[in-house]
Amino acid sequence: MKTETTIQGLAASLQPARAARKTIGFVPTMGNLHEGHLTLVREAKKICDVVVVSIFVNPIQFGPNEDFDSYPRTLDQDSQLLAEVGCDIIFAPSVEQMYGSKPRLTNISVSEITADLCGLQRPGHFDGVAVVVTKLFNMVQPNYAFFGEKDYQQLAVIRQFVRDLNIPLEVIGVPIVRAADGLALSSRNGYLSAEQRQIAPTIYQSLKAAAQALQQGETLSQVLANIKATLTAAGFVVDYVEARTTELQKIEAFSEDLVLFVAAKLGNTRLIDNLQVKHSA
Ligand code: AMP
Repeated sequence: MKTETTIQGLAASLQPARAARKTIGFVPTMGNLHEGHLTLVREAKKICDVVVVSIFVNPIQFGPNEDFDSYPRTLDQDSQLLAEVGCDIIFAPSVEQMYGSKPRLTNISVSEITADLCGLQRPGHFDGVAVVVTKLFNMVQPNYAFFGEKDYQQLAVIRQFVRDLNIPLEVIGVPIVRAADGLALSSRNGYLSAEQRQIAPTIYQSLKAAAQALQQGETLSQVLANIKATLTAAGFVVDYVEARTTELQKIEAFSEDLVLFVAAKLGNTRLIDNLQVKHSA
């Protein structure tokens, strides 16, 4: 496994794979890797000859009051984990390497599907994601890129601009990896106190209960209200509890497959989760 910190170094490391027309898989991350990230790498290994994992905490996708400075940076530990799952190249550039010293005048902004959910709570966030992911795509030029359904809206945004801009690669979504108690794995779970960590699985439990209630005929608005009440009673400050179609369109009733979305804070830690609920006609 090689670790590259410059765009030139990355290009040089990828050159033999490109010359041999090998398939390149790419997994963008912000590091502090856990089993969720490693699952993406394993999926990439299944269908690609060469797998590149980027580790870059992207400043332009963080809001002014968010955790950019405190975001965990654990490159040594991440490298060890990536070696174990067969990653071929780690790309871990500096902010300077990614953005240079001259001002950036180009933005990539996906409309409509970024207007609510996390887009409403985190203005500019998805623009920051779209810009960095596009830059990384241009640097790695992968055949396949892997993203987790944990960030369902982000995955939809990436699929959208890849299609809109004819970026020549295939986006592959990977189901959410959870802890044994149901909590969706996230680098931000590390911020939780022992007590908060005990409470955190309530998100998944309330989503599961909601899915079951929907299947049993309870109304969508009642089910969403129940999730909110359960989370508030458990000590969360709820950002949103929403339902959307799988394409992120608004939905008033459980009349087709839908996705339940939660964003909620425990103390200063903002957690997100979602659950797909199938509608059997
Ligand atoms: P991050 O390092 O948080 O930017 O995440 C990098 C990639 O890993 C994104 O595509 C995430 O959706 C994905 N990811 C993070 N946590 C999970 C999880 N628990 N299950 C599946 N994918 C995940």
